[in-house]
Amino acid sequence: MKQRVLSGIRATGKLHLGNYLGAVKGMIELQNNPNYECFYMVADAHTITTPFDPSSLRQNQREIIIEYLAIGLNPEKSTLFIQSRVPEHFELAFYLSSVVSIARMQHLPTYKEKVKQYPESNTMALLNYPVLMAADILVYKANLVPVGIDQEPHLEVAREIVRKLNQIYGTDLPEPRRFTTLGHYVPSLKGEGKMSKSVEGSYINLTDSLEEIRRKIRSIPTAMVAGGPIIGGIKTLFLLAKLFLSETNYQKFKEDYHRGRLQFVTIKDTLAEAIYQELRPIQERVKQLKKNQSYVDKVIENGCQKARVVAQATLSEIKKKMGFL
Ligand code: AMP
Repeated sequence: MKQRVLSGIRATGKLHLGNYLGAVKGMIELQNNPNYECFYMVADAHTITTPFDPSSLRQNQREIIIEYLAIGLNPEKSTLFIQSRVPEHFELAFYLSSVVSIARMQHLPTYKEKVKQYPESNTMALLNYPVLMAADILVYKANLVPVGIDQEPHLEVAREIVRKLNQIYGTDLPEPRRFTTLGHYVPSLKGEGKMSKSVEGSYINLTDSLEEIRRKIRSIPTAMVAGGPIIGGIKTLFLLAKLFLSETNYQKFKEDYHRGRLQFVTIKDTLAEAIYQELRPIQERVKQLKKNQSYVDKVIENGCQKARVVAQATLSEIKKKMGFL
């Protein structure tokens, strides 16, 4: 039997390089492996755990589906859907919350960070984020979850929930594991922290033009002269270089750096060009897909239907074990 895969991205706007390298690349790899059955969603309900704009939520859901398709997610191979249209996720999340303590959620570093970032949005939805994420995964009995390393604490919560449920109610849910990619942690262009949609100046969108990419890469803080320790912005620069340049070019720039003769503008402009070359075909496909909205509608419609069938079956199974049915 095929193993199942689940992943998703919040509907906060366009995808950035962190999403692409940390999550979507892994999603594509698993989609193209016949041993896996993949479910990929737009995690729109997770979007409301931090401040959001209701007037752009629908547009953003679509934007993510279009970018998924443009990058190479194939609706013939993967089920592409919108989380809020499969309400079984939310019902299951409530049942799961009965085996999770409030203290466990409050101590999660991801929760603490978000509260620090948005003190006015310390809501139940935010506290409950990891439980909903566990429901997203468990409702498909997914074994593998291609997400960035920032999601590891949430996967640990999902595994704890599985162990408790299997032990208390005799369910047979698998413990989900993270599927990792080379870009599982993409640092911020500001040289501190991770690339994130919520930090202005930290990210490159997949739809950015060559000029925008060049401007952003040039803004990465570097030293006056090369040769010092590889930290902060210089570390970001080399990490991106490793991911986008050929091994020969990467090694040459590194050697130049250690010898103190690297011109930062040279590596930055080479990198910007390489990033753009990888994104250009994706941008072309985004343009084409935007002209074919009825196709996008059909993909969403079919995906939501397929996802619901699987989610309903798992939910019934768990409800029976818990004594509801
Ligand atoms: P989010 O935009 O927070 O919904 O994240 C969607 C996916 O992108 C998750 O799998 C994250 O782990 C991944 N992701 C987000 N930012 C980064 C980053 N800077 N580096 C690697 N993966 C990331």
